[in-house]
Amino acid sequence: MDSTREYAFDAMVIGGGIAGLQSALDLAGQGYTTAVIEKDASIGGKMIRLSKVFPTLDCASCITTPKMAAAAHHENITLFTCCDVSSIERNDGGILASVTQRPRYVDMDKCIGCRKCEYECPVLVPDAEQGGFSGRKAIRIPFSNAIPQKAILDVENCMLCGKCASVCPTGAIVYDQQPEAYRILAKTAVLATGFELSPIADKRQYGMGEIPNVIDAMQMERLLAPHGPYGRVLRPSDGMIPDSIAYVQCAGSRDASMGVSYCSRVCCMYAIKQAMLLSGSLPLADITIYYMDIRAFGKNYEQFYQNAKAMGIEFVKAKVASLDKGENGAVVVRYEDQLAEGVTTREHDLVVLSMGMLPGWNPDGVCPVGLGGDRFISSLFPKTRPSVTDMAGVFVAGVAAGPKDIVDTITEAGGAAMQAANYLTSLSASAKDAVKEESHA
Ligand SMILES: Cc1cc2nc3c(=O)[nH]c(=O)nc-3n(C[C@H](O)[C@H](O)[C@H](O)COP(=O)(O)OP(=O)(O)OC[C@H]3O[C@@H](n4cnc5c(N)ncnc54)[C@H](O)[C@@H]3O)c2cc1C
Ligand code: SF4
Ligand code: SF4
Repeated sequence: MDSTREYAFDAMVIGGGIAGLQSALDLAGQGYTTAVIEKDASIGGKMIRLSKVFPTLDCASCITTPKMAAAAHHENITLFTCCDVSSIERNDGGILASVTQRPRYVDMDKCIGCRKCEYECPVLVPDAEQGGFSGRKAIRIPFSNAIPQKAILDVENCMLCGKCASVCPTGAIVYDQQPEAYRILAKTAVLATGFELSPIADKRQYGMGEIPNVIDAMQMERLLAPHGPYGRVLRPSDGMIPDSIAYVQCAGSRDASMGVSYCSRVCCMYAIKQAMLLSGSLPLADITIYYMDIRAFGKNYEQFYQNAKAMGIEFVKAKVASLDKGENGAVVVRYEDQLAEGVTTREHDLVVLSMGMLPGWNPDGVCPVGLGGDRFISSLFPKTRPSVTDMAGVFVAGVAAGPKDIVDTITEAGGAAMQAANYLTSLSASAKDAVKEESHA
């Protein structure tokens, strides 16, 4: 017997980052029942992992957490986490998604988020949520402001010692929990699957992730975050307070050898933001940004850049040729200075790579939606209705359509929700016309 559970909604949103949450909240606010399907164990996307955000330097989680909570408590929104989408297709009823929910090995209805299991678990592994700098248990709440606040057990590292089950006050641990299959039907869909950073491991000349004090910008977000791995910025290899920190711009963008020939748009601004935050937390440190061009494209962004210069952050117009291990954990930066001319080297205690943005999801074979040459989801009308895709009733929001900052992501997500709502209105208008025609016949 087919044990697939079936659900029907007015709308479904794939991806629970800031774009997906905004689209879902806008649709639900208009009375439409909406499913949010998220692959991770928590909603919130990249934004909930950031420290502060340019250009206002607001705390990222102060903006994201209320939206996550609003979505979780909205009567018209149903969250599906830990979900993989295997197909999205059109049928007579609308858009049908086939979804598999991976087991958490924890009964969501019973777990009260008390973390007793996490405290008791003896297994400690590097915590990707903290850039790999600190440890996490095999069973844990994914991060402090995760939603839902439910535990998840990492079966690959669990040694089945039974300690978590013995302390769980509600009997929520289910070691033999199985994946669940769902068919989710909706009249319209918004794709908000965001991005992943281009991997350091692909950057041979920058050490392929093998140089200990070369990190990516998302790891620096965690070092700067209030609930970060060390509670302050320390050099990962030896816990030293860095005196000299460098940024390498366009480390994964505008580089055909990485398959990312486009500009990722946010890297200049996030590097400047992090440099400003660093000069606040480490006032004695020298901070250098090696850049090809600074692209400060948004409202008040140029002023933000000028403020960073006024704070003493050094901008060196240069193409960084290579990074190498130096003495005592230092990183040797070899670069061609485009203003002073000539190739030269300099040592820094810590180097941050401004990696580019790659699409967070490859819909090939899953959803017949058109992609651009950059592999992000294409818009049918980029100038007039940027969220409309070439699949009727399916819209796109946020970085799923191409690199962009939070301001543009939220604006576009509101636009996608509006287009989806218009589409739902047009469906009910044509249904009414059909009824009228039938009654006249
Ligand atoms: C280091 C760094 C710092 C930044 N700092 C700033 C800043 O200060 N200010 C600013 O304006 N912008 C900043 N940005 C950009 C900002 O992070 C993005 O604009 C924003 O997060 C985009 O949101 P999104 O919802 O489109 O994508 P994401 O945040 O990537 O969310 C996408 C969601 O979809 C989920 N998903 C992906 N595929 C699937 C699938 N197949 N099925 C189900 N779910 C799926 C993901 O798990 C994720 O939860 C920064 C970016 C980086 C890398
Ligand atoms: S699984 Fe049990 S012990 Fe762990 S957080 Fe949930 S209720 Fe608490
Ligand atoms: S059974 Fe696994 S998850 Fe539970 S406490 Fe033991 S090692 Fe940790």
